[in-house]
Amino acid sequence: MSFVPFDVLDERRKSISKGAPPACEKASLAGAVSQRACVFCGARVVLNPIADAFHLIHGPIGCASYTWDIRGSMSAGSELYRQSFCTDLREKDVIFGGLNKLRAALAEIAQIYRPKVIFIYATCVVGVIGDDVLAAAREAEAAFAIRVIVVQAPGFAGHKSLGYRLAGEALMELVRPAKTSPKVRAINILGDYNLAGETWIVKNYFQEIGLPVLASFTGDSQVDDLLKAPLARLNVVQCAGSMTYLAQKMEEEWGIPWIKASFFGVADTAKALRETVDLVGSKEERAKAEALIARESSQAQKNISPYLPGLAGKKAAIYVGGGFKAISLIRQFKALGLTTVLVGAQTGRPEEYEVIASLVDRDAVVLDDANPSELEAFMREKGADVLVGGVKERPLAYKLGVAFCDHNHERKVPLAGFVGAANFAKEIDLTINSPVWAHVKTAANLDFAGKFVG
Ligand code: SF4
Repeated sequence: MSFVPFDVLDERRKSISKGAPPACEKASLAGAVSQRACVFCGARVVLNPIADAFHLIHGPIGCASYTWDIRGSMSAGSELYRQSFCTDLREKDVIFGGLNKLRAALAEIAQIYRPKVIFIYATCVVGVIGDDVLAAAREAEAAFAIRVIVVQAPGFAGHKSLGYRLAGEALMELVRPAKTSPKVRAINILGDYNLAGETWIVKNYFQEIGLPVLASFTGDSQVDDLLKAPLARLNVVQCAGSMTYLAQKMEEEWGIPWIKASFFGVADTAKALRETVDLVGSKEERAKAEALIARESSQAQKNISPYLPGLAGKKAAIYVGGGFKAISLIRQFKALGLTTVLVGAQTGRPEEYEVIASLVDRDAVVLDDANPSELEAFMREKGADVLVGGVKERPLAYKLGVAFCDHNHERKVPLAGFVGAANFAKEIDLTINSPVWAHVKTAANLDFAGKFVG
């Protein structure tokens, strides 16, 4: 049943509930100012971490503002992916077509950079004017002997989830020509983007256990690593929102089973390691996993415990990209002594909201595809002390005088694994107990529950 304590658009009512799963997997409502990213952004966020690929945006320069700087995945190899390239379409190109610019860009890239693969992202304007990007890509492949993969991702065609799917299709196109047998006793990691080096943390765990990681999609990846992926025995999917489609396709075409595994929080990291080893590891590797879990979880608990007194009884709000991550965050907050009073995702799935609803209190707000005014109203109503979100939620929290923790692509501190769980406690403590919020609230004439008092 929907509830609406303030004036929101009627069509949004079913997407907001209390302690129950809201409606989800719907197109964003026009005019509702959704926090969701566009189709192109969804595709780019998945593909851009492929470090030795060339990422070319065919569209206006505005689309190219979506760069490595706000999506800071790390690479141990090539740095090519950190640059942003664009055909910079302008008014004349909209009228006469942008293909000449695209052809010239492809020739220049091939001659100067000689990358293993070029991804072309066709954005909104190209979706409107109808440049034959595919033809230009085939011409360039023939002329320069370089693979060119087109991602037809006009932002208006849907939302971020469609971009994830298009990225999955592009990755399948990239990897399909590779050898698919014989299988080796190894895994792939899907949906980890090596933010602040998180892929390295997870890979080190598997290395210690003795389970090789063949490819990681796409954090710290190089084209040649990705081409080994069809030989793995299991796909371990961290970000289910972005990688479920790819995992399903890899199972369908190459017979690789997959599991969802969260490496956020002590309990979820331990569970993910155990489940992975149980599926593809030996008894000896299970024993090594147990030793690692015992050592690392005990160290993490020691590092977390000094922060617990400062966090007890605080209220948390969560608004992240996918529902699977939100589930881990609710569990992490519970372990730290905080209550989650608001939780939502840009692209949550029904089964994820079922779990979310089972984990939060009956009066916690659960909402899908929120907009800033909804987040503001519910954070005020619930008196949230901290918001966990991404780049688009940060200014909202700061303006309300609410503490904020970035759990998206801008984060500079790793939050995955046992070490990440301890970092998370420290980050939350630092922001929630900062004296600055009292001054912000006073300046904004708000009381400490976030309500206007003036
Ligand atoms: S909505 Fe369109 S114009 Fe805006 S960033 Fe996305 S693709 Fe580019």
